[in-house]
Amino acid sequence: MFAKVIVDIAHAAVDRAFTYNIPAGLDVRPGHHVLVPFGQGDHVKEGFVLSVSEESGLEDGVAVKDILSCMEPYTVLLPEQIALAQWMQEAYHCLLVDALRLMIPAQLRGSRIHEKKERIVFLADADSEFASKSRIQTDVVELLKKTGQPMSIQDIKAFLPGSGPAITALLKKRVLSESSFTVFRRPEYIARAEDVPELTEEQYAALKKVDALSPGQTALLYGVTGSGKTEVYLRCIESCLQRGQGAIVLVPEIALTPQTVGRFAARFGDRIAVLHSRLSAGERFDEWRRIRLGKAPIVIGARSAVFAPVENLGLIIIDEEHETSYQSEITPRYHALDIARRRVKTNDGKLLLGSATPSLLSYYRAQSGSYQLIELKHRVGGRPLPAVSIADMRAEFLNGNNGIFSSLLISKLGECLKQGHQAMLFLNRRGYSTFVSCRACGYVLTCDNCDISMTYHKAQNAVRCHYCGARKPLPSVCPNCGKPFIKYFGVGTEQVEEQIQKWFPGTKTVRMDADTVTHRDAYEQILSAFGRGEAQILIGTQMIAKGHDFPNVTLVGVVAADTTLSFPDYRSAERTFQLLTQVSGRAGRDKDPGQVVMQTYVPDHPVLQFARSQDYGSFYQYEIAQRKKCLYPPFSLFIRLLLSGDNETALIERGKEYAKTLETDLRTALGAEGQSDLLLLLAAPAPIARIAGQSRYQILVKLLRTKRLPQALHAVYDFETSHRADGFLKIEINPQDMF
Ligand code: ADP
Ligand code: ZN
Repeated sequence: MFAKVIVDIAHAAVDRAFTYNIPAGLDVRPGHHVLVPFGQGDHVKEGFVLSVSEESGLEDGVAVKDILSCMEPYTVLLPEQIALAQWMQEAYHCLLVDALRLMIPAQLRGSRIHEKKERIVFLADADSEFASKSRIQTDVVELLKKTGQPMSIQDIKAFLPGSGPAITALLKKRVLSESSFTVFRRPEYIARAEDVPELTEEQYAALKKVDALSPGQTALLYGVTGSGKTEVYLRCIESCLQRGQGAIVLVPEIALTPQTVGRFAARFGDRIAVLHSRLSAGERFDEWRRIRLGKAPIVIGARSAVFAPVENLGLIIIDEEHETSYQSEITPRYHALDIARRRVKTNDGKLLLGSATPSLLSYYRAQSGSYQLIELKHRVGGRPLPAVSIADMRAEFLNGNNGIFSSLLISKLGECLKQGHQAMLFLNRRGYSTFVSCRACGYVLTCDNCDISMTYHKAQNAVRCHYCGARKPLPSVCPNCGKPFIKYFGVGTEQVEEQIQKWFPGTKTVRMDADTVTHRDAYEQILSAFGRGEAQILIGTQMIAKGHDFPNVTLVGVVAADTTLSFPDYRSAERTFQLLTQVSGRAGRDKDPGQVVMQTYVPDHPVLQFARSQDYGSFYQYEIAQRKKCLYPPFSLFIRLLLSGDNETALIERGKEYAKTLETDLRTALGAEGQSDLLLLLAAPAPIARIAGQSRYQILVKLLRTKRLPQALHAVYDFETSHRADGFLKIEINPQDMF
């Protein structure tokens, strides 16, 4: 018998299957993790068995080396996962071994981690009398007699401190016998016992629709915040288990709190396993093994849990499907949704995407019939959606208020604090000081070509469009109203904190942003402190927008609703709508009704109006029309090639040359009738032109989405391959942002 083995070395030159002989007596199957002699010096390397066959497929006389051993008694990859990795290799143009590595815990490689064994001891002969001068040895024997069953050495030591040597002595005298068993290191979560609620009519209808999906199909569960999507997930998983199948639930990393996991654990006990980046190495390894060994058919995890080795996978759920964190930013640059679609297709499973603010792409697919649309239109228990008011910051400014809070927000905050409730103030840090607007009329400087706000560049005191390269000087007066109040915009969380102290001295606030969330548990600590009422106001960036339920929060203030709206990205309207809806959903989760105040310089902007009435349907109609008009995704596709180097002049020269070659390649691939598919090919310094001393240059390509797209992508990938060693930082298909 022969095996095709890929060695665990991430290098293009060896990223293929090598043939090995399976020596007699060694049980080797596809998916086994093996040791093989490799290369001229026969260095021992780790590898993965891709396939096994009776024929070597080699010519006679070619020497075939033997596989040395299997590293684990079980196969570490399912056949389905091997096929998935091979598909990824094509689709993402990555190394096969890099794709395979996503499917196993890193510590498995190089045997850097081992099973944890617990030693237990028991009386060799339970009936025999034991007499010893040693007091502690007698105590140990007495204890074991009393409990009448084996005990772990750790437990005995806890009962009888200092009994370690006595146990050793008793083992030696054969009064005690020992054995051991594997323990699984598990992450902590709180499995609150909660009653299983009766489904609402809407929830029940949703469940039936999911049950009725045909194999391989995807459904989009669009449900307003608080409509009980999680309960629907739980029931879908239940019916999946009843069919003898497993399920994977993806949740954004940041929402994967002990509380979230607890809700699943309360229902499914230790049939769940948890996978996310905050686990210790031991926990990750053991959770993975519990999944692989079939002990945990339900996996709750962040993005990479989409690769979990669940056998007989019946269902994948992606909660908050619109979240950008489902896109991997490192090679292989996969999107969890694409992987999930692939996996449910091969397994005849079902994919359920859930969101209160579906991504435009998913809703578009639901509209065009490739996804089934399922809706939850009402909040559970008839709780009203919060009342949203818009504070017009232009009017405030013209009335002499040049602070960061509107008088409306101040008065609502005052009321909220007086009643002993809590408030959340939300700020989007990412827009900091980049876009330019007029404080008097709200006008935002946008590109004449692109309908995208322009970005301020301090060094040149100029504004630039990241999409087409257009540039103009910073005007000294507003082009719209002529007043001299044009400025670049930005407020930070610290500033908000200071202002609160000024308005409401002595109020306890907590801040949550990239500065305060510096270590693994800080996020959790800040939120639970706020949940316990240790602070009255939580100030934060988008991190506070999701996940937690704080029953005492009745007011949400959006300090600058425009910062995301004016972000230089074609997705800024979509992201603004999503953020505003998510933060609004934080208010009034319990008995007390919620209120939201959005501060803005553009109160009439359609997106803010849609967000205010939480009208996703109208927002979608508005935004999809914009996308169609400007031929932005989903009607087109962006590709960005990013180059970097120390020598700016050389870099620019090479960038331009590359752009020329790439354009020729693309035009050839698109063929005569496809020439107009190439909507844009722009070579320019990257929006952030220098990072850590390295100059950056980018080639931005915009392609119309037609049947010729795969050919065009192939051309781009081929181009990348032939220049791989040549200073490319990365190639991105539909980059998540344009920086
Ligand atoms: P979503 O995920 O859609 O925002 P959740 O699933 O968190 O909503 O549900 C909101 C609240 O309603 C939760 O506290 C949940 O326990 C409760 N809930 C969900 N379904 C029901 C139901 N059928 N009956 C009673 N309470 C429910
Ligand atoms: Zn432009």
